[in-house]
Amino acid sequence: CGIVGYVGKRDSKDILIEGLKKLEYRGYDSAGVAVFTQNGLEVRKTKGRLAVLESALDEKPLHGSIGIGHTRWATHGKPSDVNSHPHTDNALKFSVVHNGIIENYMTLKDELIAGGANFVSETDTEVIAHLIASVYEGDIVKAVQKAVSRMRGAFALGVLTEYEPEKLVAVRLASPLIIGVGEGENFIGSDIPAILEHTRNVYILNDGEMALLTKDGVELMTIEGNFISRELFHVDWDI
Ligand code: GLU
Repeated sequence: CGIVGYVGKRDSKDILIEGLKKLEYRGYDSAGVAVFTQNGLEVRKTKGRLAVLESALDEKPLHGSIGIGHTRWATHGKPSDVNSHPHTDNALKFSVVHNGIIENYMTLKDELIAGGANFVSETDTEVIAHLIASVYEGDIVKAVQKAVSRMRGAFALGVLTEYEPEKLVAVRLASPLIIGVGEGENFIGSDIPAILEHTRNVYILNDGEMALLTKDGVELMTIEGNFISRELFHVDWDI
């Protein structure tokens, strides 16, 4: 339902939580974050209000300057800790947040299970993490493009991999996603209020477009891999 992502130099946890709070109006039943820490890609996710996630983070803090966050409005699988996003592959090398629905997830799930994947949640989203892991050959952008070409439905995605820890990949297909451009830091959000506190310069992704974000830049392209050049949109309103 709500997506926030950060890549930069600051500690990402508070930026993710505060961003998710700005998206609360959309409604949600659970929330979670994945952050690159000294121990690799770590996830905290809980059913219930953001306050529940915040106390889980107080108990077991996460520190790192790249992360993704999500508030979930369950469509496939009941609200639970395990069904909350982010979702990961079995080796915990890829982490995904997703808004929307993957219509052909059953077919993909059967195929991935036959290939050895072990599913832990009831969500359609988990197929995305296993699918990206199964097609990854050293380039996260190419892997996401390959995975997305197999997926039907509506989705906005934020993807991180431990193999390329400086990168955040974002995709939009029939579910809104915007990119916030800062100084030495960049953001993704499912809506502008999520990031407006940090920057007023945004790229609005269109359907079938994706972005590669590092702290120093943003590359826009189609999901087929054609690069796009676009003017920054300046947000001149307040929340
Ligand atoms: N279909 C996904 C799920 O049920 C994402 C729902 C959402 O957009 O929050 O987990």
